[in-house]
Amino acid sequence: MSTYFIKCDVCNKDIITQHHNAKYCPECKKNMRKKQQIAAYKKYEEKAKQEYEENIIRIRNSNARIAAIAAEAKEMGLTYGAYMARLRAVNVLEELQSENGGNNND
Ligand SMILES: [Zn+2]
Repeated sequence: MSTYFIKCDVCNKDIITQHHNAKYCPECKKNMRKKQQIAAYKKYEEKAKQEYEENIIRIRNSNARIAAIAAEAKEMGLTYGAYMARLRAVNVLEELQSENGGNNND
């Protein structure tokens, strides 16, 4: 095993190492690792925050949609559930109609 005499990239301290690609003294290496861990954590935190905000927006949008549907249902004198059941029935009906109409070759 060879021994290398190098200078620490950070504090310029002379270091003796067995690794030809060493750049830092043990102390700075520790600090660098800590910095990298902090940077990685910040990156993770940032991403989590972004995902959280996107989820909030998604929830808000779906809440807004539900509120709009509920308002429509109220206008028609129906409960939200009854209105949704009706919407679903209409969709099914429209699907059936579009299946039967148009490209029916028989
Ligand atoms: Zn150092």
